[in-house]
Amino acid sequence: MSKPIVAIVGRPNVGKSTLFNALAGEKISIVKDTPGVTRDRIYAEVTWLDKTFTMIDTGGIEPESNDVILSQMREQAQIAIDTADVIIFMTDVRQGLVDADSKVADMLRRSKKPVVLVVNKVDSFQKFMMDTYEFYNLGIGEPVPISAASMLGLGDMLEKVVEHFDDDAQNDEEDEIPKIAVVGKPNVGKSSLINKILGEDRVIVSNIAGTTRDAIDTKVTYQGKEYTFIDTAGLRRKNKIKEELERYSIIRTVTAVERADVVVMMIDATEGVTEQDAKIAGIAHDRGKGVVIAVNKWDAIEKNDKTIYKFTNKVRETLSYMPYAEIMFISAHTGQRIPNLFETIDMVLENQTLRIQTGVLNEIITEATALQQPPSDKGKRLKIFYTTQVSVKPPTFVIFVNDKELMHFSYVRYLENKIREAFGFKGTSLKFIIRERK
Ligand code: GDP
Ligand code: GDP
Repeated sequence: MSKPIVAIVGRPNVGKSTLFNALAGEKISIVKDTPGVTRDRIYAEVTWLDKTFTMIDTGGIEPESNDVILSQMREQAQIAIDTADVIIFMTDVRQGLVDADSKVADMLRRSKKPVVLVVNKVDSFQKFMMDTYEFYNLGIGEPVPISAASMLGLGDMLEKVVEHFDDDAQNDEEDEIPKIAVVGKPNVGKSSLINKILGEDRVIVSNIAGTTRDAIDTKVTYQGKEYTFIDTAGLRRKNKIKEELERYSIIRTVTAVERADVVVMMIDATEGVTEQDAKIAGIAHDRGKGVVIAVNKWDAIEKNDKTIYKFTNKVRETLSYMPYAEIMFISAHTGQRIPNLFETIDMVLENQTLRIQTGVLNEIITEATALQQPPSDKGKRLKIFYTTQVSVKPPTFVIFVNDKELMHFSYVRYLENKIREAFGFKGTSLKFIIRERK
């Protein structure tokens, strides 16, 4: 199920990053060893009570002068309007209400998106409470006083945020048609690929507008099967937003990946695989999505009999955290291997929802532990009682053990490999939860 997206918008120095860090805490990324992604702090998963959402910080630009602040805020607000389910609009009680706040508030009000107005730096409710009332003038509802730095009022704020989550809308999206996000750095060939697919094999095209975040999804029928390609929200606004701003392409990627079942990660064959690619692919990996790596522009490079082998090794090395992903060499221009791309997408979709019976699963685990003894520490050996698959998308397993501390990361890897040897699961990450049973 796709998680709601919450964006923070506000002038520089009101405290957006402080709030972001306070909420994200250690949960900034599920997988700690995904390169790049963890350092960025552009987005994070937040859990509050029983709700989980993805938070994005649209800020982070250092404006050179006051003149550009407003235009940059407008741009930020537009991104939030395009991508978020709920917007947190942050103001600063110490600076008071300023003109730029009113202009952005107007914009947010017109968008009809749910907005939670927060007034930050209310470090003492006694001292500053009176000053928060002027923010009613923005006309976007009741101001919620918080102090991001001292973590005051955050519960009240989050309560207002989650109130706006539309549980029904999330379920509506759970239709049967698989959702595919095509991601990759600018100029890798995302639009070309989608255009090629649209132009081929008598595909039927329709734009479905009006989903919760006004994304324009494209429905494609390929060889009798339907797919929804998620617009990486921005293909259509290419000229408006400065493409070179990496932050914005990451935000677009996160929001598209969040809604996708399978992510097609494109790499430019003419440039080779880069750190930026690793960052983008890491977003899909962190979210537990199905992944197909498509090395594009294969028509444009000189090849010999070792080229594929060498390229594959490079990709495996750079994207070492996703050895499960299939690598394909395609050309959006010539259409080379696009049929295989669809076959692979279908396979990954199946694997994302594959369920293994507990009996069969435990046979494999028992065999594996007999082949290689579980780790021990100070005379105490790890004992695995039993393993069960608790969910799909991604396939998630709970391993019941005598002592969690004894379970090494490398032994989980070993068990994962054994499960993959037996059942495949190509194209999808697997998640393991270790539980103690006394
Ligand atoms: P951003 O530009 O909106 O991301 O703002 P920052 O999060 O970088 O914060 C700007 C400044 O405000 C920093 O010096 C913070 O320490 C400070 N700040 C943030 N939250 C609070 C708060 O709740 N109270 C006070 N007094 N200062 C804060
Ligand atoms: P996007 O920014 O990821 O959407 O990339 P585009 O689809 O706009 O493509 C960027 C550039 O790469 C354009 O000049 C395309 O013509 C070119 N391009 C895309 N796919 C291929 C391909 O398969 N082969 C070659 N040779 N060029 C390609």
